[in-house]
Amino acid sequence: MIKINENYLKLQSSYLFANIARRVAAFQQAHADREIIKLGIGDVTRPLPAACIAAFHRAVDEMADIATFRGYGPEQGYDFLREKIARHDFQARGIEISAEEVFVSDGAKCDNGNIQEIFATDITAAIPDPVYPVYLDTNVMAGRTGIFRDGRYEGVVYLEGTRENGFIPDLPQKKVDLIYLCYPNNPTGATITKSELKKWVDYARDNQAVILYDAAYESFIRDETLPKSIYEIEGAREVAIEFRSFSKTAGFTGIRCAYTVVPRSCEAYTVRGEKHSLHALWNRRHTTKFNSVSYPVQRAAEAVFSDDGKSQTKELTQYYMKNAALIRREMSALGFDCIGGENSPYIWVDGKTDSWEFFDRLLDKAGVVCTPGAGFGKCGMGYIRLSAFNNHENVQKAMTKIKAALK
Ligand code: PLP
Repeated sequence: MIKINENYLKLQSSYLFANIARRVAAFQQAHADREIIKLGIGDVTRPLPAACIAAFHRAVDEMADIATFRGYGPEQGYDFLREKIARHDFQARGIEISAEEVFVSDGAKCDNGNIQEIFATDITAAIPDPVYPVYLDTNVMAGRTGIFRDGRYEGVVYLEGTRENGFIPDLPQKKVDLIYLCYPNNPTGATITKSELKKWVDYARDNQAVILYDAAYESFIRDETLPKSIYEIEGAREVAIEFRSFSKTAGFTGIRCAYTVVPRSCEAYTVRGEKHSLHALWNRRHTTKFNSVSYPVQRAAEAVFSDDGKSQTKELTQYYMKNAALIRREMSALGFDCIGGENSPYIWVDGKTDSWEFFDRLLDKAGVVCTPGAGFGKCGMGYIRLSAFNNHENVQKAMTKIKAALK
């Protein structure tokens, strides 16, 4: 008898976006004449930078010519892209990361979800709350948790983000082996300082743990003192894996390109306590299960590092950050405590009321759709997430409507 992986049955259905869609549809039906502005989505709205499009086109043409056609590429990504990533994103900032430590992929979502399979199932994972759900759900699927009870999975150590700690969780009281961190954070927009991040690196070193550092939003950091990479912290090369993406940086959500850094010196242990290279394991996983990203997409990603590409991607992130600043300014002026929006595209608003109640109020009174914080975990209750990924005119209009509705 063929049996299913019953760990999947422990998963909580993600009612969040379905529930939002249902409420928006009901509102639309009842008020056909009212305009709705969506500030809930985490997807980009601006087109790809011209430099990326030009490189993409050139690469497609190469595929049409027998002299330049390419079939399967290297599973880890083409050297031309790995080298540019290592040079521009790390070495230029004084960080020691080499091209062979970079694994190109089709998304930080997949990498964040897949990476846990190179670790044992009986380890303890520490996962933030509120959280980007991929970290939690993939550990549930792998059987690393017990059942879901009172809003929590048994066996997980939750790293609680709260009003009091500014959504930078305290170090765990109980010893953990695998730690998920995401800065700038989705959903809270919180950022971490070098000294705060150093505490986590020191913890991992002292406890033979590994940190999975999701830096998908690093290009939104404006404060030069904040770390863009965990490898800016001394000792991180031995205990951290970092995830980056071209999705939000350069508008690649639709064409897909990201990368994961696994330093050669990053190690974990066998049951007998022998050290083993995580680089070797991830390389093995990649070569067995993955055939990398299409050649034209890797050429488009490479163009991000050209002079034009750099200025065009900067323009893109600046565009969204102008939205973020406006949202934060207006919500603060209305008396709401806000986190994020200064070095991140998300603004986490303390509604001091039930998340869904706040959602309904914004929709009914202003015609604006947000994301209720409760959908990201127990600690998100009472908050909403507003996203800066929209056209500026829409954001201006949304804020005018919110002001009129909530004043
Ligand atoms: N990591 C975080 C924290 C995200 O918010 C997202 C997307 O919203 C991703 C990763 C996914 O990135 P990608 O588009 O590269 O899969």
